[in-house]
Amino acid sequence: MQVWKFGGTSVGKPERMHSIRELITADAGQKFVVLSALSGTTNALLSIGESLKAGQDEEALEKIEHLKAHYDSFLRELYKTSEGLAKGQQIIENEFSFIRSLTRIKPFTLKQEKELVAEGELLSTQMFQAHLEEMGVHALLLPALEFMRIDADNEPELDYIERKLREMLRPHGDKHILVTQGFICRNPRGEVDNLKRGGSDYTASLIGGAIRAEEIQIWTDIDGMHNNDPRIVRNTYPIRELTFEEAAELAYFGAKILHPSTITPARKFGVPVRLKNTMDPAAPGTLIADKTTDQVFKAVAAKDGITALYIHSLRMLNAYGFLRRIFEIFERFKTPVDMIATSEVSVSVTIDDITKVKEIQAELSTFCDLEEPEYDQTIICVVGNFSADKPGIAAQVLNALKGIPVRMISYGGTEHNLSLLLHSRYKAEALNALNEGLFNV
Ligand code: ASP
Ligand code: MG
Repeated sequence: MQVWKFGGTSVGKPERMHSIRELITADAGQKFVVLSALSGTTNALLSIGESLKAGQDEEALEKIEHLKAHYDSFLRELYKTSEGLAKGQQIIENEFSFIRSLTRIKPFTLKQEKELVAEGELLSTQMFQAHLEEMGVHALLLPALEFMRIDADNEPELDYIERKLREMLRPHGDKHILVTQGFICRNPRGEVDNLKRGGSDYTASLIGGAIRAEEIQIWTDIDGMHNNDPRIVRNTYPIRELTFEEAAELAYFGAKILHPSTITPARKFGVPVRLKNTMDPAAPGTLIADKTTDQVFKAVAAKDGITALYIHSLRMLNAYGFLRRIFEIFERFKTPVDMIATSEVSVSVTIDDITKVKEIQAELSTFCDLEEPEYDQTIICVVGNFSADKPGIAAQVLNALKGIPVRMISYGGTEHNLSLLLHSRYKAEALNALNEGLFNV
């Protein structure tokens, strides 16, 4: 069985839903289809939630009717028969009456917000399944809320997901097409929750890992992962092959095409992930798997909104346990550290979540000297095959960037990543310089 995930733009128009049906039925293999909400819906739902949180009920109801009108016209093009249309209308009446009912719950809390935002995927999957049925394609809709669960730390519970899915699939092992919602799940309190924005990719990978799928395919509207950011750099091209490690670095450091956690379950069970383009299904896309090609430089990605903290202490000289004391503070404030550079008496780190930066600085200042944090920084991550015996890799990267001030460098953490920190104002220049210097384009 393969898991195929289609994102918001791939289901965002009725004709795109038709193409997805053609794609999944043209291929003979068994498919587990994971869908996102129609493009724009999750944002619209969150905006309704914002109005409700602000006590603007009228405004929320207007937004709800506006969104419903979009679905009404969508249905008229999605379905071909009056029975199909009636089924579709039934689905959206049900879901929108639930959405309206949320406006009457006071106060409107995070719990309601999560129920509200889950509606996007509940709508898209039911509408799609009804479309399949109308076209004579029998498909089974498996509710994600019955098998997708996160723990108290918001981490998916793989064992549970695997056990639940096995139970649910047992009587339906012969079904050709299974459909489920991306993104949504339950938390340990049994409430509706989600895997964070863009989380449908993660759903696909969790299912792929749990059922030991033959392959996970993530269908979007570009030809796979590009070697550089196509919004900023001209002459980028899709990368044919990446290892799990390389793809994880790229996804984490800014390649928007993939939710950063997606790689973890796929890698754990060795299930290859293929990125495909719904607009051009014959294009090879990007294959993410265990093996690697020997190309040295594969891709560059950038992550903005980074803050650098500079920590100094003479007591660090020849001391042990010093780094532990520093990192314990980040741990206590649940703040992940991305990049680290050390000297004998100093440590520089970067973080992207600054909600606890004051508290962290206050605790660090009890045993360290601190500089002012530097905001508006960008991490540039160069990914490739940098085995330790290959000469000249860092030189080539730094040479490409020779006209740009670099604040921090991290190299050698793995054999496939070199990261640099610079002020965000140099980002576009740096990405372009690296494209020229590393990829001969
Ligand atoms: N619909 C959710 C979002 O917009 C999840 C996803 O599309 O992956 O973030
Ligand atoms: Mg996405």
